[in-house]
Amino acid sequence: MKVRGGIEAFTIAAVEGLGGAAEKLADGLYTVLWSEGPTAEPETRHLAFDPEALEDDPESELVTIASPTLERIIARATASGRVARAFLSVAPGSPQGVAERLARSYRFVDSAWTPGDGRPWFCPLGLFLFRVRYLCDSREEELVEVGVNLTDGRILRRLDEAIERYGLSPEPWEPLPTKGELPVVQTYGIAHAELERRILSTLGNRRRHLEWRLERESGRAAAYYSELLRELREEQSVLAADDPGRSRLESKARAIQMEQEGRLAELRSKYRLEVHVSLLSVLRLYQPKLVFRGRLASKAHGAEIPLVWDPVENTGEPARCYFCDVFTYELGLSRSGTVACPSCLERAALKPVLSGLSPHGQRGRRRNGQMFSGRQGTK
Ligand SMILES: [Zn+2]
Repeated sequence: MKVRGGIEAFTIAAVEGLGGAAEKLADGLYTVLWSEGPTAEPETRHLAFDPEALEDDPESELVTIASPTLERIIARATASGRVARAFLSVAPGSPQGVAERLARSYRFVDSAWTPGDGRPWFCPLGLFLFRVRYLCDSREEELVEVGVNLTDGRILRRLDEAIERYGLSPEPWEPLPTKGELPVVQTYGIAHAELERRILSTLGNRRRHLEWRLERESGRAAAYYSELLRELREEQSVLAADDPGRSRLESKARAIQMEQEGRLAELRSKYRLEVHVSLLSVLRLYQPKLVFRGRLASKAHGAEIPLVWDPVENTGEPARCYFCDVFTYELGLSRSGTVACPSCLERAALKPVLSGLSPHGQRGRRRNGQMFSGRQGTK
């Protein structure tokens, strides 16, 4: 995900969702019109999403992750009900019966996981509702819902089924601690990328159909105008070289050619497809899940690895490989004592020198930190 693109898109979507307006001045630079609160007067603000854009307009406010401007926009979007919340009415189940089944959801590579205490937590899930508008000679729109697990960024393809099956309630039936979330800009970026992936084939079909229509109509227009020109040339061919009618026919031919160019340009713009995507709302759902402490131990290493039981899917949740960031049900311990998928373990075994080094990037480390460590206790 391009971070700037995500924040930019989220902010503009939120401003527009709140009934404000945004106008792009340059790359990463906008003028927005919006009001700070429901009763406040709308005001014009200049927002920059890139320090470089700030140079073009030094008066503008820089919007970055956790900047006060972004926080205010998110707070307003939440307060207005555009970002709603609800609780999935499903019981987390009892930890006693589940620990062993949880362990059986995984394959532990050269290691074993021993479950410790299990307790229910509310885990936040996000249902992002997008409107996609296809604009060409006709105008159509569709709504696309994308479910994202807000604690680890996994796409949830069956969230709507779960909502239908268990129903929602506006309040929790029992107070539970709530697991921490990834930054909203990151989860928005994940949802948006999934939306793009889902509309890709529709978009391709629409584009191909429009190209086909453009080709057909352009062909017809070209045939029509070439017939006119052919008739004109015929008329011209019977005139004497010094006949004054010749120049009249010449200018007529030029007019026909210009009309043809105009008609073809008109057709090209008629069959050009524009796609506008906007985020209509985000529903934040809290689902109870059982989080188990546990210890993964191999011959040489051991590490505290919590695992999560999902009572809706009736299985464990995949863990994330610390090295390559993929979700996996097959896990083992690297030489540095972190969770790794089989391919990363194999790679590390082939390159013993590298195995003790830290993984690439900070993202995997942070995500794992959120998934597997003490940042879960917010609320
Ligand atoms: Zn891996």
